[in-house]
Amino acid sequence: MRIVLMGAPGSGKGTQAQRLSEHFGIPQVSTGDLLRVAVERGTQYGRAARAAMDAGALVADEIVLGIIRERLAESDAARGFILDGFPRNLSQAEALAKMLASIGQPLDAVVLFEVDPAEIVRRISGRRTCQRCGRVFNIYSNPPGSPPHCPVCADHPPLTQRSDDTEATVQRRLQVYEQQTRPLAEHYAAQGQLKTIDANAPVETVTARLMEALGEPAHRPRAG
Ligand SMILES: [Zn+2]
Repeated sequence: MRIVLMGAPGSGKGTQAQRLSEHFGIPQVSTGDLLRVAVERGTQYGRAARAAMDAGALVADEIVLGIIRERLAESDAARGFILDGFPRNLSQAEALAKMLASIGQPLDAVVLFEVDPAEIVRRISGRRTCQRCGRVFNIYSNPPGSPPHCPVCADHPPLTQRSDDTEATVQRRLQVYEQQTRPLAEHYAAQGQLKTIDANAPVETVTARLMEALGEPAHRPRAG
């Protein structure tokens, strides 16, 4: 099973990727993590990526593709992979298709997690962190007091909000995501590869929908 996952920040895509990875026994290939590792290890692509980052530039698509190709050559990816974080635009999608064709591993499906933007804003902007123990709470689902404080640490320190979790920042990130993703989704839909999942549901339900979309009948919820 060779899959690309697309979903806005806060869509629950990461959790579902983990579940897919366990179910199919295939690795989750997150380009963000791959880049970090390549840079740390100082591989050929990692050094090129670092040079770009140091210059304040975006890492070129060829470098990211090279890192992905190297990762897919590892034995655990022989039966498939879940690609996350790439592609983000049409030219990347085309370059990826070409690279995957060249190694004989074309995509089976592209999954788009659809979520209500208002719900995402709520989920993310409601996050509060305890500076002491690092636990994350949500003022909407799990109100830990007023004003919000950590119920775990003995002296109940106040919870704080990360600066990039504010409502305005989340709105902006969602807008960028929308602009990037819509043409990509249309592209994959035209190729007959797009599976759209309604992700406005509890984790278990989303997993069931995902399995069904990918043709895994064992996970289909019982009718009636
Ligand atoms: Zn705490």
